[in-house]
Amino acid sequence: MQDTTIAVVGDGFGSLMVYSTAVYVGFRRDQLAIYGNAETAVATYGGYAGNLGQTVLRSESESHFLPADWPTFAQLNAWARRSPAPLVRSVARRYNPGVPEILAEAVTVERRLGWGERHVPTKVGWIRRQLDPIPHFVLYDEQAAPLGRAKHVALAVGHGPLTFPRVLAETRENPVLADRIVQAYEPKTYTPGGRYVVIGAGIASVNEWANALEAGAKVISLLRNPAPEEQDLNTPRCFFEAYGIDAYQELGFEQRVAFLGKILKGTSPSRKGWIEIVREGIDEDRFDQLIGEIDELKAGPAGLQIHVGSRHGPAPGWLDVTGVVCGTGFTRSALAIPVVRRLVDEYGLPVQDGRLVLRSNCGVPGLDRADSRLCVMGLLANTVVPHGDTIAGLKYIARRFVADCSEAEQLRRRRLPSRFAMQLSLAGDAVRAIRATRESEQIT
Ligand SMILES: Cc1cc2nc3c(=O)[nH]c(=O)nc-3n(C[C@H](O)[C@H](O)[C@H](O)COP(=O)(O)OP(=O)(O)OC[C@H]3O[C@@H](n4cnc5c(N)ncnc54)[C@H](O)[C@@H]3O)c2cc1C
Repeated sequence: MQDTTIAVVGDGFGSLMVYSTAVYVGFRRDQLAIYGNAETAVATYGGYAGNLGQTVLRSESESHFLPADWPTFAQLNAWARRSPAPLVRSVARRYNPGVPEILAEAVTVERRLGWGERHVPTKVGWIRRQLDPIPHFVLYDEQAAPLGRAKHVALAVGHGPLTFPRVLAETRENPVLADRIVQAYEPKTYTPGGRYVVIGAGIASVNEWANALEAGAKVISLLRNPAPEEQDLNTPRCFFEAYGIDAYQELGFEQRVAFLGKILKGTSPSRKGWIEIVREGIDEDRFDQLIGEIDELKAGPAGLQIHVGSRHGPAPGWLDVTGVVCGTGFTRSALAIPVVRRLVDEYGLPVQDGRLVLRSNCGVPGLDRADSRLCVMGLLANTVVPHGDTIAGLKYIARRFVADCSEAEQLRRRRLPSRFAMQLSLAGDAVRAIRATRESEQIT
């Protein structure tokens, strides 16, 4: 059992944001604990991004891991590369941090501030509220053995499990065919000359069109609806600013969910790089698009035979394909995450359309108190902070949470010169780490 002031349940990007912000404002490292079984704070995101072949972030320069926002990521990169190009792009809002560069910064912050020493490599199974002798939480592992106590808890457990359309989920149970059906976020290889169906037209699917075409395979893009929305980021840029968040928070819960449903549905990036690859694929007769849904599937000469039905015109019928890649993403229901489901069951927490109903500070109603906070981050929080599941959104929530904890604890805050020195020294180390990476190509 370890007693800490703050515990983060989950050990991804969100945990690093809470940890670095807490150290920056003046919490001692031994007042903090991070629970989860990932190797590092960047491992979960890095795994998904690697499987997807993501090379640059969708977000801009303000999304990064130093505790304070200045220098921006474009400034750090310009310093690292000794080139004004990132600044020029950023002024025109056309700068996207490279994945290796942003991970190099995150790992620098993680190592320098000792995240690893405060990481308890175990998943949390249960969180229980205790009021005696002072309000706090007790954390248990998945075998219900006690792990630790904390006055304040941030729940940053990331996404739920990956989703598959029903027929494909059933086929994944068949050991002979299972590995021919993968998620965009899972590891995969494309056989040159093979024929792959890519389901969906969101960012993950668009990446897979390009990955398969680049490997010399053929792509059939399968869409349920003829007209997906075209948009660069899932969340409109105006919501990355305080004004946008305030406007969003003024909506009722149902309106917020409806709004999210609209902006999160099948968005696709307008990326010159991807479009050129797809155009080349079309010219070489290696890219095709069909409207419909797979309703039957069996083994076939190319690996799989799929039947595609359609509600929007003539059905494409039976096709021979090598494999199917689903860009269908993650289960959005909070109840698919075991530790959340148990909290909901045990404390009767309000849930609507699979989403936790939260307080405007991302607190869990009934359990969150000013003197002992229970706050959620990431996708779980996007009914309150629409871009909660982005680096900028995680930072926004982490700052509010840490500020509340520091007020509750009457923390003696780190003085301005010390904060400034810490930020500058972290920035210097981050620049050296970025310089050691290969420069990522901007793709717009
Ligand atoms: C492919 C991809 C591309 C993205 N691109 C961008 C982008 O360009 N720009 C941007 O701003 N954002 C982007 N994001 C979104 C966002 O930055 C990430 O989703 C971010 O990793 C979310 O941080 P998190 O801490 O909430 O979750 P994660 O980083 O997913 O970490 C959650 C961690 O919690 C652990 N965990 C789960 N349950 C428990 C438990 N019970 N106990 C302990 N640990 C637990 C998990 O194993 C995991 O390690 C992208 C996300 C993905 C997947």
